[in-house]
Amino acid sequence: MPSPVPASGHPEASSIRLQRQQGFRWLNFSPELEAAYRQATKPVTDHQSNVALFCGLVIWLAFIGMDLARLHGRAAELFTAPALLTLLQVRFTVLLALLGCLLALLEKPPRFKRPWVVAGMLYLVTLGGTIANVTHVSLGTPNEHSVLILLMVVIFLPLGLRLKEASALALLCLVSVLLVGLPITPEANRDQLYYRVFSMLVAAVIGGMGAYLREYAQREQFLLRAELEWLARRDALTGLLNRRAFNEHLALALSVARREQQTVALLMVDADHFKLYNDAYGHVAGDHALQQLGQVLQSSCRRPLDHAARTGGEEMALVLYGVNATHAQALCKQLLQRVETLALEHKASPTAPHVTVSVGCALSEPQEEASHLYKRADALLYQAKRQGRNQAAGPA
Ligand code: GH3
Ligand code: MG
Ligand code: MG
Repeated sequence: MPSPVPASGHPEASSIRLQRQQGFRWLNFSPELEAAYRQATKPVTDHQSNVALFCGLVIWLAFIGMDLARLHGRAAELFTAPALLTLLQVRFTVLLALLGCLLALLEKPPRFKRPWVVAGMLYLVTLGGTIANVTHVSLGTPNEHSVLILLMVVIFLPLGLRLKEASALALLCLVSVLLVGLPITPEANRDQLYYRVFSMLVAAVIGGMGAYLREYAQREQFLLRAELEWLARRDALTGLLNRRAFNEHLALALSVARREQQTVALLMVDADHFKLYNDAYGHVAGDHALQQLGQVLQSSCRRPLDHAARTGGEEMALVLYGVNATHAQALCKQLLQRVETLALEHKASPTAPHVTVSVGCALSEPQEEASHLYKRADALLYQAKRQGRNQAAGPA
């Protein structure tokens, strides 16, 4: 069975439609579509998470600045008030760890998986924020616990975490705030801590709902776009690649072949005396015959880089990857036989009592451009026509 996401990276219409029918309430696509979705959204989320995490670092620095302002004049207590030292240690440990994470994100190739680094940074800020907060309470300085509530919303921003991962992280943060906060919070202030965790929970639920709706809309858009892209690359009558997609695919197959030192066979296939077929049986029957010929070509595609295309009118093409001359000759013969097996009556044809095709088959040269290969295959097609039709010319 051909893969729904061929090597060209374009998901097949059938798998897109099936996914739309089945829905994606749990924000999950089939494995192939999921991979294509991730690939399509990755550049945007990567950039967003870089910017957001850089902002996180700047905000952390701003809090250090605020600490300096808040604790102005209390530097002398640094060695007598342990809370002050703790605050200093937490601020700088988190700052260094954040810098390390940011560098890890920018590293090429990345050593760590991005979601892990992103989750680690968010967790670190939550923990650091909690300790700093409780410490400020014990120092009697103004403190800003609303930052922890905001962090719950930030976790659900599009920073490269899936909703499930972000939810797990939010839960871990909530539990950690309690576990870290409780032992260092004096009995009298514990109610405040519980209230804070409750507010964080509410913020997480709101953030999660927003993230669900955003991701659902993004996935829906991805499916619509993928279907539109599929339609833009297809010929409406036969469902084969259209001329534009054929040009793109041939260039892609040739560049892969160049890299892997393989050859590509290009088969140009043209229906014989098709004008006479239309004249004898009408255009509707002609369309039907073209559809059947298209299916024959499509069924000859076996490898991920094999593709059939309708290049214009009653002319089609087959791109076959990694094929040598002997194999290509056998495939041409097989193609002519399959068309014969269709047994589409064509009484008006001077060549045979059924629809036949002529084939020009050229094998790619190591550094050959797509347009040059196309010209050679086309010349061979006309040679096959001249030699009497219902036959293949080439490869030499
Ligand atoms: P040859 O063997 O030399 O290829 O002869 P031919 O009649 O096939 O070639 P010609 O170029 O003279 O005519 C092509 C015909 O293909 C004419 C046109 O009506 C028909 N054709 C092209 N596109 C379509 C189509 O989408 N549907 C139908 N029914 N016919 C088409
Ligand atoms: Mg023709
Ligand atoms: Mg023609």
